[in-house]
Amino acid sequence: MKQFDVLIIGAGVVGNAIAREISKKNTVTVGVLEKEPDTAFGISGRNSGVLHAGFNNKPGSFMAKLCVQGSEGFEKEAAELKLPFKKTGKLITAGFEEDLARLQKLKEQGEANGVKELRIIGREELETLAGYDAGFGALWSGMTGIFDPFQYTIALAEAAAEQGTEYLFGRQVVEIAPKGKSQAAPSNAAGSGSFLVTAENHSTGEREQYRTEILINSAGLFADEICRMVGINDYKIHPCRGEYHILEKRQPWLLELPIYPIPNEKDGGLGVHLTPAIHGNILIGPSAEYLTAEQEREEYSTTRDVMVRLNEEGVALFPELNIGDCIHSFSGIRPKLASEAEGGYADFVIEESKRVPGFIQLVGIESPGMTASIPIARMVAQMTEEIRVRNKSCEAQWQGSESKSAQTGLLQAVSGEPGDEKMLCRCEGITERAVLEAYDRILYIGAIPTVKGLKNRTRVTMGNCQGSFCTINIIEVLEKKRNVDPLALLWNGFGSLMFEGRVKE
Ligand SMILES: Cc1cc2nc3c(=O)[nH]c(=O)nc-3n(C[C@H](O)[C@H](O)[C@H](O)COP(=O)(O)OP(=O)(O)OC[C@H]3O[C@@H](n4cnc5c(N)ncnc54)[C@H](O)[C@@H]3O)c2cc1C
Repeated sequence: MKQFDVLIIGAGVVGNAIAREISKKNTVTVGVLEKEPDTAFGISGRNSGVLHAGFNNKPGSFMAKLCVQGSEGFEKEAAELKLPFKKTGKLITAGFEEDLARLQKLKEQGEANGVKELRIIGREELETLAGYDAGFGALWSGMTGIFDPFQYTIALAEAAAEQGTEYLFGRQVVEIAPKGKSQAAPSNAAGSGSFLVTAENHSTGEREQYRTEILINSAGLFADEICRMVGINDYKIHPCRGEYHILEKRQPWLLELPIYPIPNEKDGGLGVHLTPAIHGNILIGPSAEYLTAEQEREEYSTTRDVMVRLNEEGVALFPELNIGDCIHSFSGIRPKLASEAEGGYADFVIEESKRVPGFIQLVGIESPGMTASIPIARMVAQMTEEIRVRNKSCEAQWQGSESKSAQTGLLQAVSGEPGDEKMLCRCEGITERAVLEAYDRILYIGAIPTVKGLKNRTRVTMGNCQGSFCTINIIEVLEKKRNVDPLALLWNGFGSLMFEGRVKE
């Protein structure tokens, strides 16, 4: 049975940021259990990719405080992670004169949160910044920026793995026995973990068990279920779906910065907005629809009605948009702690449970969770440190823990041929070499190769053809240069095989 000092459930942006922060200490063994084949398959791979400044959140809340910290520190972190980041600024536009009073309130809220570079601007300046007549006036936020949410989440996982974090993908946590419950603790101190965690291994179909002194629940949409496994029934997540259109890169200069309407506090989101993605596409969305109790929590479909509404609201914000440029649609789901009837707003829960010591719970980590991820991680690392100091036996165990071996040099993991500069994906200009490197990087963090994992790392299949040209090229290269059996290759989740069989040998 594997034993860790700290075990994290969930390899999203928050779990990865926490793993990176805690594994900076060379004496602490850190594991991450993730039900999916790879990182960034949950909410962290389904959002706007906007670095928020922090003016939308209530003063004094974790959301406000951690968002502002995340926004201020992001440029430095992005440089360290070699992550492309653009501080674009953002406009929240007023369609009517009476909206200006609401913008002023938003500005004051932002200033109370410590947000820098906020200004109310008039029609002329708005037109200069937006590049078109976008309304009566606007709130300008200079701290807002854009980045690639896949690359960010993956970069955090690679940094954590490099520091010795062990990722265990395809492991769905199904049962937890906290301290004092049914677990039979071995007599030696080094073997006595406080939590016995059971996970289903989706690759083998077997159940596995793990011991850990500290357990961190960073399970996104399922964080309330994980709480229930340790006997905490205080939380219920109300999944709220947000759908998007992605427009092709034909005219990226059309929109150089995110443009938002004034948020409607009751609708659960920030309103349908326009975001230039860091790679040049334009995103329209997200909408905000609460899922019904009958729907699966990860019901990531897009729906006809919402698609039509996104078109209308997108064009209302920016009349030059050509909806015919839409190449794809997708959705993300907000793990809301407040229901629609309750107004949809609740602060992040980030705490060590009083009832289950050693259990750190992160619940309701919706937007601005990406922006706030590194400050959240620092807060959680501080909590783990305090648990360690408080728990004497735990401290002895930590001191006695074998120093883990950090994996050094990501590129050393590349084992096969490097590949050549032949273009595999014409739309995005992705070469064979880039795809093979991405494949090796998937293996480096212990993830299970999927086409989606390659896509998230390189952008293959994300262009105008949406994979109709490049998918087969990718598979041929993987078969030839990495010995991958196409019949065993997954598209995204478990069970999503690319092929049913061969037509001819
Ligand atoms: C539509 C939308 C737009 C957004 N836009 C922005 C934005 O522009 N800027 C911003 O800062 N934030 C934004 N957010 C918020 C941000 O995306 C989230 O706060 C953040 O991604 C949450 O990360 P996470 O790691 O908590 O969750 P996730 O990424 O979902 O990670 C949780 C992981 O836990 C795994 N898991 C769940 N149950 C189990 C189990 N039983 N066993 C093992 N593993 C399990 C899941 O598979 C998942 O991978 C947006 C969110 C949405 C929905």
